[in-house]
Amino acid sequence: MSPRLTRLSDVTGPAALPAYDPAAHGVGIVHLGLGAFHRAHQAAMTDDALSRDGGDWRIASVSLRSRDVAAAMAAQNGLYTLIERDEAGMRGRVVAAIARTIAADPAATLDALCDPGVRVVTLTVTEKGYGIDRATGGPDPENAAVRADLETPDAPAGVLGLLVAALRRRREAGAAPFTVLCCDNLPHNGAFLRGGVTGFARRLDPDLADWIARTVAFPSSMVDRITPAATGATRRDAEALTGCTDEAAVETEPFVQWVIEDRFPRGRPAWEAGGALFVADVDPYERMKLRMLNGAHSMMAYAGFLSGREFVRDVMADAVLAARVRDHLGAAAATLAPLDGMDFADYAAQLQDRFRNPAIAHRTAQIAMDGSEKMPQRIWSPACDALDAGQDIDAFAFATAAWMRYCRGVDETGKAHDLNDPRAQALSAAAAGEDAEAVSDAFHRLPNLIPPALRDDRAWRAAVGGSLSTILRHGMKAAA
Ligand code: NAD
Repeated sequence: MSPRLTRLSDVTGPAALPAYDPAAHGVGIVHLGLGAFHRAHQAAMTDDALSRDGGDWRIASVSLRSRDVAAAMAAQNGLYTLIERDEAGMRGRVVAAIARTIAADPAATLDALCDPGVRVVTLTVTEKGYGIDRATGGPDPENAAVRADLETPDAPAGVLGLLVAALRRRREAGAAPFTVLCCDNLPHNGAFLRGGVTGFARRLDPDLADWIARTVAFPSSMVDRITPAATGATRRDAEALTGCTDEAAVETEPFVQWVIEDRFPRGRPAWEAGGALFVADVDPYERMKLRMLNGAHSMMAYAGFLSGREFVRDVMADAVLAARVRDHLGAAAATLAPLDGMDFADYAAQLQDRFRNPAIAHRTAQIAMDGSEKMPQRIWSPACDALDAGQDIDAFAFATAAWMRYCRGVDETGKAHDLNDPRAQALSAAAAGEDAEAVSDAFHRLPNLIPPALRDDRAWRAAVGGSLSTILRHGMKAAA
């Protein structure tokens, strides 16, 4: 059996190594949400920045809920293998940007956030992990972590509670605040998180809330790199690439994109070294990506999963569903304002190539999770713009009907699936029943979900009802 990956000098395989000595660089970033995506994206690009320009920019990476990945990485001194796959084969590199990990330990997380050397906090805690109410833009009073942290603000365990407690402590100690960089797939993610953090602080101390609003930067960012959950094959290939056992290996595609608003009062790593693009306004990039990549992903996840397609690449191998993907990308692109230097047709073609990547096993079930958190920005926001502009809404209505059908919790072969969604109970209740109009009505009546502009529009309701009726009576293939 190969030795465990614990030092760069352990590596005997062809994997590339960083061009810096990890021990010579201090921690400058705390990351919340030590998942696969963080390791494939921000941590890898921080590794590129350290290799090119050095600096004290290594990462203390926190898993707020689960212990397994953080514990595996701790046993490896934060080292892990990143595998890039495409039809030409695989390439590996060992990433050393993560200096230490914290496993479900709120007190240690708060201490890490208070370290004056920490100048940037990055986050990938998933769309639902923030506890922010999208309707008000403030903390969600129904969210368990928000409620608990408002009661015991000195011992927080949730995202908003931790950020506010750390900022308060830093202010009291006379230390400068950190910059907060949200890297989740949410529209206006910087302003979104700023609203949640200042709203949470205002419940406790309005003066602190004003100070945060005045002094803390929350740049927005658009992130892109398709990163499936790791499997046994990931770990086997990591061993072939490094000569070491690696329990924290991650696999991803070669493509990587990170567009960031350049507002970092206390500095930042040279993420350009990994290909990041710094711009004055991220919104148009983010809208393009959420509506085209993520919108098509959600549609193909529901339509594909229900018709027995396990992976995105399997959906693309089905001519009927692949045509749906092409049409969806076209409909989403039609809702976008022109963007300098971007050709949406080229972007759509590149996306279809990435979706087809035969070496990436991206599960439709993984993308289908948390639909109530994803559909608003991916499907309903472009649908509203298409309605306003008198454009075709069929693609968005079909995606919505496919999601409603998915919420029944059983696929077209009769196999049951878990409805992994913070609003699972309400969604499965709405999805029950055979009458498409009644089911669609029940979904449209759920509070703070489908926008009123769609709910009250007869053409939209007819399009969703029509698609859902075909899906329920004749199956997904007939509707697609
Ligand atoms: P993952 O399941 O590997 O990791 C998710 C992380 O979020 C874990 O650390 C988990 O503990 C944490 N988390 C989940 N629910 C939470 C909660 N309620 N409170 C606090 N923390 C919580 O997933 P991933 O692939 O790393 O993706 C994470 C996020 O990154 C996505 O939701 C998305 O917003 C963004 N992203 C992912 C991809 C991708 O291809 N995987 C691409 C672009 C953006």
